[in-house]
Amino acid sequence: MGGTAAKSLVARLMTPLMGPLMEQRRKIVSGNWKMHKGLDQARDLARAIASGLEPGSGPEVVIFPASPFLVAVVEAVSKAAHPIGVGAQNVHPSPEGAFTGEISVAMVRSTGARHALAGHSERRQLFGDTDAFVGKKVRAILDLGLTPFFCVGETIEEREANKTIEVVARQLKAGLDHVDANKLARVVIAYEPVWAIGTGKTATPRQGAEVHRFIRSELAKRSKAAAEAIPILYGGSVKPANIRELLAEKEIDGALIGGASLEAAGFLEMCRAAREAG
Ligand code: PEP
Repeated sequence: MGGTAAKSLVARLMTPLMGPLMEQRRKIVSGNWKMHKGLDQARDLARAIASGLEPGSGPEVVIFPASPFLVAVVEAVSKAAHPIGVGAQNVHPSPEGAFTGEISVAMVRSTGARHALAGHSERRQLFGDTDAFVGKKVRAILDLGLTPFFCVGETIEEREANKTIEVVARQLKAGLDHVDANKLARVVIAYEPVWAIGTGKTATPRQGAEVHRFIRSELAKRSKAAAEAIPILYGGSVKPANIRELLAEKEIDGALIGGASLEAAGFLEMCRAAREAG
């Protein structure tokens, strides 16, 4: 029996004895395709991922294509042997209105997508999303039963000024303070140091784990159960060559991957790495 199978057998046998203590947080490997791929390419990539994933246990897999292709991508992965979640890269928090170019959570949900990013640093930096606006998005996503992937992270200037913890604390507060206690556990958090996104620079596993630990301690102030349940992903130049060492940190529950998620073979390899990490 392989290591992963043995571990899951032990967990199954022990769970009735140990109860929720043995419950493992779910692992997630997710791909943010940003403004890449046309319709045919998005469909092809989704199909290649769907057919390459091994069925059975393994990380939860979620892909975030460009919004015009949500329906096509949902359809392309609908018969995958291993379920694949599909999400929007952005939503507007209002249910409807005169917001030219924006997309409501209900519109996203009607495509069959069940996830949405909120607070990605590119939205914060290039499109002026404030902490408060991101908080509204998180709530709107939860209110309609979708899963928010709530992103936080500091810039290089903030890290060099030793403000990482302060910045992440501020973003968490604005993003989560008005979330109903009974919905908190449905949030997924992605720690994405801005200086590591699309730059080829990755936080060391230790740097990542330090911030993840802090995030979990902040969550525990709100709810111990939610803090145990919420997956905290790392994002920032994750690729096949570095994902294993990141996932070896027990604080890192998976990855939000940009550039390296645009090619099926590499993405599938990272899904395999998460499966092996158990
Ligand atoms: C991202 O867009 O969330 C991201 C982490 O990008 P990259 O992996 O390319 O750094």
